Amino acid sequence: MASEIKKIAVLTSGGDSPGMNAAIRSVVRACAYMKVDCMAVYRGYEGMIEGDFVPMDARSVNNIINKGGTILKSARCDEFRTQEGRKKAYDQLVKNKIDALVVIGGDGSFRGALIFNKEYDFPVIGIPGTIDNDIFGTRYTLGFDTALNTVVDAIDKIRDTASSHNRLFFVEVMGRDVGHIALNAGVGAGAEEILIPEQNLGLERLLESLKRSKKSGKSSSIVIVAEGDKTGKNVFELKEYVEEHLPIYDVRVSVLGHMQRGGRPSAFDRVLASRMGVRAVEALLEGKTNLMVGIMDNKITLYPMADAIEGHTKIDRELIRVADIMST
Ligand code: ADP
Repeated sequence: MASEIKKIAVLTSGGDSPGMNAAIRSVVRACAYMKVDCMAVYRGYEGMIEGDFVPMDARSVNNIINKGGTILKSARCDEFRTQEGRKKAYDQLVKNKIDALVVIGGDGSFRGALIFNKEYDFPVIGIPGTIDNDIFGTRYTLGFDTALNTVVDAIDKIRDTASSHNRLFFVEVMGRDVGHIALNAGVGAGAEEILIPEQNLGLERLLESLKRSKKSGKSSSIVIVAEGDKTGKNVFELKEYVEEHLPIYDVRVSVLGHMQRGGRPSAFDRVLASRMGVRAVEALLEGKTNLMVGIMDNKITLYPMADAIEGHTKIDRELIRVADIMST
């Protein structure tokens, strides 16, 4: 059966992540290759409601594979949460003869896409773009690898200064609900302790570990703290707590913040984005909808979007064990 899809729109929505541009490029080029028209939607769902569309061809995405952020801009849009907002968005798509949508974003963006599909039977395929790596149905989300490398790089630099002054550093990294960045970066950068939302080992254990570390002759210590860690103290309060209970330590705090979202995407994220974009377009042309493109066992897969956003992916217990052994 011939595909009824003649024009595909692509947008980026929610929190940006490195690799989104590579994914946009892939969707645009795959459309050109498969001879369907392609439109870019600027500013996510906000741009969709306002009709902020630009036709794209293969040359529109020259020299963006290596750029962080998203050339299409991203936005959070409260109006899309309302029926009236989604009706305006639908009218804009119809007016511009758009038949299907690729949404590059996180779980919130997928939730919006699913509601939109339910109301208007409009074909949608998702590409998981978030540094948190917290979406089911894919081993990796776009941007996680780059963010991880950024964090490891930053911690390496912090360690240089920490060891020059015999200091203890608390480094806060992103991860309100999941500790994937913290745990992986902690192992990769050789942190002494890693505090993640998934487990609360308590402040006593932290003090014990730091005491042991000092005794064993370590000249510096790095403790990685995910934003959502469950000790009940933020990094600055942790610093005060340790200084009070372990005055031998000269403690400093570094909050890495938004630098974790930026920067040139890693080779891994560029390749992943290229593969995902192609599969997203293919899936739409095969008549599929409500699916997210993922990667499992190095194979590109399609997974129900509704299941992808049911909660958060679990932390890797084996890696927690490795982290414990490495901090000996
Ligand atoms: P992310 O996609 O990074 O998780 P958000 O949670 O902010 O980011 O979601 C991005 C956008 O998706 C929101 O600003 C909103 O426009 C849309 N969205 C999120 N949840 C819903 C929902 N339940 N209904 C409709 N739209 C939603």
